[in-house]
Amino acid sequence: MINLDLMDRFAHLAWPFFDPPHAVLSRAVDTWASANLEHAHGDDADAICRKLVKDLGEAGYLSYCVSDNPDVRSIALIRETLAYHAGLADFSFVMQGLGSGPIVLAGSEAQKKHYLPRVAAGDAIAAFALSEPDAGSDVQALTTTAKRSGTDWVLEGTKTWISNGGIADFYVAFARADEGISAFIVDADEVDADERIDIVARHPMATVKLAGAKAQLVGQAGQGFKLAMKNLDVFRTTVGAAALGFARRALDEALARAKDRKMFGQRLADLQMTQAKLADMATAIDAGALLTYRAAWLRDVKKVRVTREAAMAKMYATEAAQQVIDDAVQILGGLGVMRGHPVERLYREVRALRIYEGATEVQKVIIARELLK
Ligand SMILES: Cc1cc2nc3c(=O)[nH]c(=O)nc-3n(C[C@H](O)[C@H](O)[C@H](O)COP(=O)(O)OP(=O)(O)OC[C@H]3O[C@@H](n4cnc5c(N)ncnc54)[C@H](O)[C@@H]3O)c2cc1C
Repeated sequence: MINLDLMDRFAHLAWPFFDPPHAVLSRAVDTWASANLEHAHGDDADAICRKLVKDLGEAGYLSYCVSDNPDVRSIALIRETLAYHAGLADFSFVMQGLGSGPIVLAGSEAQKKHYLPRVAAGDAIAAFALSEPDAGSDVQALTTTAKRSGTDWVLEGTKTWISNGGIADFYVAFARADEGISAFIVDADEVDADERIDIVARHPMATVKLAGAKAQLVGQAGQGFKLAMKNLDVFRTTVGAAALGFARRALDEALARAKDRKMFGQRLADLQMTQAKLADMATAIDAGALLTYRAAWLRDVKKVRVTREAAMAKMYATEAAQQVIDDAVQILGGLGVMRGHPVERLYREVRALRIYEGATEVQKVIIARELLK
């Protein structure tokens, strides 16, 4: 395993996409992560994530993803750095933003005041409940219903694959009202999240049943789909950044091992087939980083819609990271599949990134649609 102190993974911060505070932020998060994430690889994902949310709040980092003027480059750099050190830290960070995003975008003053400071401080855990058993890629097929009940609303339906399900303090859930798909806040005591889901790289996740769940409307009825997409517009690019963090870690682990491992009278790194792999890995990482930070920069600085660019970044960086990590496993040989080794962990952690927030195929549809407009 590598000595993290020796690595310099910040060369891209000299790219013109960034301002000086970005470099300061990235290094500060790296220092914080090096000192604070040893506990983040244990088995009790619920307890780990509760602590991570609290710690990230206390460190001040959650305010970057709970902001009415989000800087996507900062969120992406934080994700990249946290993912390099620990997948659950990246997960806990971004879910606070994804789960509270609709409130930031369209919540009433009272809703903002009640939820957002607690989310940013790490005192309340947020979740984003869009997917259903029969509505994943085809989100518009969702069947959860919302009916008015006095000043409140009541939701009926089932959400699934809900990250932070079971540990969240509240859910922003999407349901069909007479006016169309709408966003709602549902407090945890209104839902049944007992049916937990165990995935290949464990994080808190549940199927969430809404049976007469009392809910507050966020924004206007019928605007929920737009809100969900606007929220994903901020965060989709940053999935590419998380993938980059995983891929950079895999490359560093592979480099360290290839320089160290002797075989056939030389180092593994001296064999040209290894060098070809390393060259491909480094190039894929840079290409993913260029796409990711281009999308973030366009949104932050040029203030334009980045539907096509975010889809390209998410698709390319996650697919490339999968390949980079697979190559790292190959370079490490048996160690690469040994449970508990960072590369084995990365191999499991990266897989879901090609599925959630729009599978690769969905990103292709989006890119083609933009091209054919
Ligand atoms: C780790 C993880 C965390 C998640 N967290 C959340 C969360 O917090 N909140 C939430 O609401 N949801 C969450 N999800 C759900 C996620 O968004 C869905 O899994 C995703 O949208 C895909 O839906 P599905 O699983 O139902 O697959 P399906 O919709 O059944 O899709 C299956 C496959 O079909 C393929 N496909 C899709 N579109 C096309 C196309 N046009 N042409 C050809 N093939 C296509 C893709 O390969 C896709 O993977 C999470 C999922 C995972 C795995």
